Amino acid sequence: MTDHETIAGDTVTHYVDGEWTDGAGGDGMDVVDPATGETLAAVEFATADDVDEAVRNGREAFESWRRRPIEDRIQPLFELKGLLEDRIDEIARTLVREHGKTMDEARGELRRGIENVEVACGMPSLMQAGHVEHAAPGIDETAVRKPLGVFAAVTPFNFPGMIPLWFLPYAVASGNAFILKPSERDPLTAATLFELIDEAGFPDGVVQLVNGSVDTVDAMLDHDGIEGISFVGSTPVAKTIYERAAANGKRVQAQGGAKNHVIVSETADLDFAAEKTVSSAMACSGERCLANDVVCVESSVYEEFVERVVDVASAQTVGSGLEPGTDIGPLITGEHEQRVRNYVETGVQEGAELVLDGRDVTVDGYADGNFLGPCIFRDVTADMVIAREEIFGPVLGVMPVSDVEEGIEVMNGSRFGNAASLFTGSGAEAQQFRREGEPGNLAVNAGTAAPMAFFHFGGRNDSFFGDLHAQAEDVVRFYTDETVYIERWPDA
Ligand code: NAD
Repeated sequence: MTDHETIAGDTVTHYVDGEWTDGAGGDGMDVVDPATGETLAAVEFATADDVDEAVRNGREAFESWRRRPIEDRIQPLFELKGLLEDRIDEIARTLVREHGKTMDEARGELRRGIENVEVACGMPSLMQAGHVEHAAPGIDETAVRKPLGVFAAVTPFNFPGMIPLWFLPYAVASGNAFILKPSERDPLTAATLFELIDEAGFPDGVVQLVNGSVDTVDAMLDHDGIEGISFVGSTPVAKTIYERAAANGKRVQAQGGAKNHVIVSETADLDFAAEKTVSSAMACSGERCLANDVVCVESSVYEEFVERVVDVASAQTVGSGLEPGTDIGPLITGEHEQRVRNYVETGVQEGAELVLDGRDVTVDGYADGNFLGPCIFRDVTADMVIAREEIFGPVLGVMPVSDVEEGIEVMNGSRFGNAASLFTGSGAEAQQFRREGEPGNLAVNAGTAAPMAFFHFGGRNDSFFGDLHAQAEDVVRFYTDETVYIERWPDA
C-alpha cells in the first residue's frame, strides 16, 4: 500500500490469536484522508462470530498468561516501547493521513501513548496491594490483586494512537487478555500498532484487534466471556455502553464528551493565557475532549484579552497536517465539518458576535479537504447552545465574567466535567479554583489539563460514567480484583 508500508494490505482486518484474519465477512467502510478526500483503505467490520472467536482465544491465552511471572509479562511492553520509539515518525504519518492532525500533534499523541507503556512496565509495583501483621489476635492479613480474564476497549477517532494505550499495556501487564475495537473512521493507526505488537513477543491471543462499528460493540457488550469494557467516545454512547455493560454484569469505565472552560483572571499574564487558550481550543482542529473552548474573562481585562486571542488565532495556518507549518488540519469527515459549521451558524443566530470567521478558508491544492478556519465568538453567555454543547471543532467562545468566582460558577454549571484551566497571578484564586472546581482535570497556568500517564485521567458528570478511570493505578484496579487472605498459625 503506497504511503502505508506498515499496514497489512488494502483492507484492514482483525488480529486474532496472533494472526491477521479476514473474519466472517461482515460490513465495512472506506477509510478516507480528510485533507484530500482520497480513499486510503477499507476496514472490515467484525461480526458477532468474529468477536466470539477472539474472546475464546483470549480466554484460552489468559489461563497461561496470568500464571507467567510478572517480570515476564512486562518484557513485551519494553519491546513495544522500543518499536514505538523507532517507528514513531512512520506511525505519525499514517495517523496524519487518516485523521488529519499535524505531524507534531501526531508525534505528541504517540509520545503520550508511549508514556503509558512505560508506566505499565512498573506493574510489579503497581499490582502490590496491602499487608497488615497482627490485624487481629494471631492473624495477618494480605490483599492480592488478581487479573480477571478478557477485557475489551472501544476507542474514539480523535486520538487513535494514544487512547488504546491508556488501557492495553495495563490490562496485559496485570495478567489479563485484551481486545481492542478502535474507531472505524481511522483504524490504520491501530493496525500499525498491532504490527508492532505482533513483533513485541506477546503470546498468541493475549492482545487482539477486532475492527467494526455498532454491531461489533454490541456483540462485545453482550458476550459473557468479556469481564469488562473500557470505553472512550461521545456522551450518549458512553452512557449506553455503561448501562448495557453493567446490565450484563461487566465492569465498565466509560469516558464521554466534554465542554471545557478557561478562566482568565485580571492578574494573569495575558499574552501567555491568550496563546495557551487558542492552542487548547484549536489544536487537533478542536477535536479533543480536553479542548478548552469557552473562556471566561474578568471584565477588567475582557477587551484586551479578546483582541489578543483574535490576534493569536488569526495567525494560525490551516492546511494539510503533512505540510510543515500547518497549525490546524482538516476535520475528520465532511459530515462532521457541516455539524461544526451548523454550530457556528447557531452562535450567530443566538446573538454572539463572530469576531473571527474561519468559514471561508480555502487551502491551495486541497479542494476536497474538510477544512474550517479558526472561529472566535465574543459576548457568549452561559445559556447559549455554543456555550453548553460540545462542538468538537476550531471554535472558541469568549464570555465576560465579573470575577474568577463567577467564572468558577459558570464552569461548575456545565453538565460535563472533564477539564478546566485557570490563568492567574494569584495563589488565593488558584487555591479557590482547586478547592471548588468540579471537573476531573484542573490546570493552573498550564493550558490544557492533560494528566501524565502516572496519574489517572479524571472526568466527572456527563464526561464519565463509572468509578475507576483510565491510566495508572485506577486502571490497574479496574483490571484486577483484590482477594484478601486472612492467615493464622496457632503455634506462631
Ligand atoms: P463515538 O462515540 O462516535 O465513537 C466512539 C467509539 O464508539 C467508536 O469506536 C465507535 O465505533 C463506537 N460507537 C459509536 N456509536 C456506537 C453505538 N451506538 N453503540 C456502540 N458503539 C458505538 O465518538 P467519536 O466521535 O469517535 O469520538 C469523539 C468523542 O469522544 C467526543 O465526544 C470526545 O469528547 C470524546 N472523547 C472523550 C475523551 C475522554 O477522555 N473523556 C477522550 C477522547 C474523546
